[in-house]
Amino acid sequence: MTVTIHRGQNQIGGNIIEISTAKTKILLDVGLELDDEKNKKLPDIKGLFDSKGFDAVFISHYHGDHLGLAYHIHKDIPLYMGEKSAKVIQASDAYKRVPTIEPYGFLKHKEKIVVGDIIVTPYLCDHSAFDSYMLLCEADDEKIFYTGDFRGNGRKPYDWLLSELPKKVDKLICEGTTLSRDGYVAISEQELESQAVELFRENNGPGFILQSSMNIDRIVTMYRAAKRSERIFLQELYMADIATAAGSSIPNPAFNDVYAFITSGTRHEGLKKYSHRMGKDRIAKTHFAMCVRTSMLQYIKDLSKKMSFEDGVLVYSFWSGYKETEDMKHFLSECENLGLKIVTLHTSGHADYESIKKLVNTVNPDEIIPIHTEAPEKMIFST
Ligand SMILES: [Zn+2]
Ligand SMILES: [Zn+2]
Repeated sequence: MTVTIHRGQNQIGGNIIEISTAKTKILLDVGLELDDEKNKKLPDIKGLFDSKGFDAVFISHYHGDHLGLAYHIHKDIPLYMGEKSAKVIQASDAYKRVPTIEPYGFLKHKEKIVVGDIIVTPYLCDHSAFDSYMLLCEADDEKIFYTGDFRGNGRKPYDWLLSELPKKVDKLICEGTTLSRDGYVAISEQELESQAVELFRENNGPGFILQSSMNIDRIVTMYRAAKRSERIFLQELYMADIATAAGSSIPNPAFNDVYAFITSGTRHEGLKKYSHRMGKDRIAKTHFAMCVRTSMLQYIKDLSKKMSFEDGVLVYSFWSGYKETEDMKHFLSECENLGLKIVTLHTSGHADYESIKKLVNTVNPDEIIPIHTEAPEKMIFST
């Protein structure tokens, strides 16, 4: 097999990896670059957009830097991704009222998919996107293993994943997002939950959580922290729709202590499908933990006129780099002006050095090809 990294090798995001034999050509991920400016034009890859030059495209997970170009690929190229992952992205697109994607087939843990003379086996892994997969490609007596994005600090036991993985591969295409952060050790999602419980118990005013609505594991963490600190968990319609699409075990307004709300009257129809819903007046009389986005600033201000924000907190649960953007700076300083204490509680969706090392030792590759990293030179492990 031949590996061609079209994009994503010395940068974070925009992954496009081609695996080919004499007869078959497939792509693993077709991502957008994180820099919007670079995405104004489709990349020059023959047979991807205007004709059927590939036998299949496999998407490891729904983050835009892996999935983004899937909206534009030629309609005759079969697209594969996780089923729940597809449901989540379809719910997100429906809320945004934009066209969505319809996969040809779904990835399931250890269920082989045969495309020409390449056999692809997905392995369910943990990442800040729900229903993410690593992908093993086999042909010509050769094994190439692609990690997608993954971590060892999530709720799924990492030892379980490692025990499931192949024990010997020829080539490992491995993500290294955190390698540029020297000495970085990722705390676990459970540890994060404990910190949030403590914070919500110590500060008895309203609780706000600024987090990604697409980060399902974080929704679970914050819901559990809300429950343990005896708060009602409030999801704005966008998150409620996504959490519902992710499956009945994910906290959503069908839970007895989760309620949906809206910040704009134009969304009233969408809200009506949830019997657990609350308006601002009722929310103001409730002890809650509310998930918010930066676009909800006016709503939060309006709420502050209906209730006391004394002893209130806002949990910042994103990568710290976003704090430098103008939008975020403005949001956080306005929240502070309303009397909210800002506390950062976050952990990475990407593996730290030790977790990567464990994976490398497990799959025992002859060659490592770093991807999704600004520090490929640091992907060196003594095995
Ligand atoms: Zn990524
Ligand atoms: Zn990702």
